[in-house]
Amino acid sequence: MSEAKQNALLGLSLQELTLLVEDAGQPPYRARQLFEALYGGRVESAELISTLPQDFRRDLTEKGFAVGLPHIEKKFVSSDGTVRYLMAFADGQSVETVWMPEGDGGEAGDGSEAGSQLAKPGRAWDRATICVSSQVGCAVDCQFCLTALLGVKRNLTAGEIVGQICTVLNDQRVSPPQDRVNLVFMGMGEPFLNYDNFVKAVRLLVEGVGIPESRMTVSTAGIVPRIYDLGAEVVRPKLAISLNASNDELRTRLMPLNRKWNLEKLIAAARDFPLRNRERLTFEYVLLDEENDSVQNAREVVELICGIRAKVNLIALNPGPGIAFRTPAEERVLQFQKILMAAGVPTFIRRPRGRDIYAACGQLKRTVEG
Ligand code: SAH
Repeated sequence: MSEAKQNALLGLSLQELTLLVEDAGQPPYRARQLFEALYGGRVESAELISTLPQDFRRDLTEKGFAVGLPHIEKKFVSSDGTVRYLMAFADGQSVETVWMPEGDGGEAGDGSEAGSQLAKPGRAWDRATICVSSQVGCAVDCQFCLTALLGVKRNLTAGEIVGQICTVLNDQRVSPPQDRVNLVFMGMGEPFLNYDNFVKAVRLLVEGVGIPESRMTVSTAGIVPRIYDLGAEVVRPKLAISLNASNDELRTRLMPLNRKWNLEKLIAAARDFPLRNRERLTFEYVLLDEENDSVQNAREVVELICGIRAKVNLIALNPGPGIAFRTPAEERVLQFQKILMAAGVPTFIRRPRGRDIYAACGQLKRTVEG
């Protein structure tokens, strides 16, 4: 670990802050003040924590502690309002984080969004979504995803995961819980290959930043043991599984990790997943023209997921350089949806967001061009 990362305050739990405060010879209630300033107040520098005495602030700085928020290296704004941020960390590594002022259409429709309030005056949105990264790059090698081309550089710390959200909220001047914000762990990386930091970040976001777990969704390519782990967590987001294929032969070709955790294992984990009251599982399915989008594929999907309380989000491929697949025509997408719907599976078509700035699903690769 680099020096800078070791001394980041962001990412520390209340318990860890309590130890730090004790070490500094300060009264224990200072830990709560620190926690609130870091996560609730989202301060940018320890010197600005006005609830702490000057000497303690100075002491923290002298010991090399810093808040550790990522800084915005670049910011691209799409014609549809989506913003792609390139976020840089202390060691110079960077990830992308995406702000979608109106969500992506995929989070609605499962009943969890009931009672949508009206947008505040002077504001164009009423339920923004932040798409968060969990790793620098990705090791999973899905053949249709641009992030895969980077390989994995390293895991993000819990503080770096939380920091992306704090930085976007500060930049957009938005504060949960008053402002309604959804989180999707669907940016760069596979959250379940960085499970402990991901879970720690979720807790800090719920307890500190004020985003309820019911507004969060984590998406996995299918790391089966961690699906069971997530099901056992007391505080957890909703689960989305990237299915993307209707049989093993096809799925192994598109997502090589299917060799390790095939559809039988994946679907068994999905069936065993303990859903809460009114909760649904989400299956995501990227449609690739004439690869996985036929009538036959749709029927196989119905067979696979039959009996699971789930919805399906269809995403037509977002194209990119070096990706060997085509985006299907709209009729094929609608035909696929129709077959699932006819079988009683709630199926939604996800609107691509920010394609013009490479902010859409599968397009995050730290491109420095708009
Ligand atoms: N690793 C996690 C989360 C990141 S990918 C996972 O695999 O679920 C988030 C979603 O984007 C996944 O459902 C993935 O299948 C989808 N996706 C990847 N590349 C895409 C592309 N080029 N076009 C559309 N969706 C894509």
